[in-house]
Amino acid sequence: VEETLVLIKPDGVARNLTGEILRRIEAKGYQLVDIKLVEPSLELLAAHYEEHQGKPFYEPLVEFMQSGPVVAIRIAGNRVIEGFRSLAGTTDPTGAAPGTIRGDLGRDWGLKVQQNLVHGSDSPESAQRELGLWFG
Ligand code: ATP
Repeated sequence: VEETLVLIKPDGVARNLTGEILRRIEAKGYQLVDIKLVEPSLELLAAHYEEHQGKPFYEPLVEFMQSGPVVAIRIAGNRVIEGFRSLAGTTDPTGAAPGTIRGDLGRDWGLKVQQNLVHGSDSPESAQRELGLWFG
């Protein structure tokens, strides 16, 4: 069965939305396989966001991801990678569809980084890579 990595980013944890986000994952029918609260190191974030190194939002992104604890979650289900990205909504929370995590719970806070509550792996290759980074 397929697995993916979900992160509840520091904004989601700080706003006490962990339960609400877990509720949506469980209500959709996906299985929680593993979960932990993490304070990610610079090394972990550099590896996780490897593809964004050099982009203008990279440094604000890493700083944001170190601004508080993150909840790392391993979830499983048929087509869970696609399914969670659909639950999350588009990257920019302002335009994310109502009904999605980002569309219902997120907004633009006028910062250099999009504080968009969650991360979900975007392909089977990145899911394997990211689950290895966060869960070993
Ligand atoms: P995630 O990978 O976190 O699920 P995503 O796949 O929708 O989100 P990516 O393109 O992988 O987005 O970008 C990673 C993260 O970097 C985004 O979730 C967002 O927090 C931030 N980000 C991406 N693009 C921008 C941008 N243009 N300006 C500010 N922040 C951005």
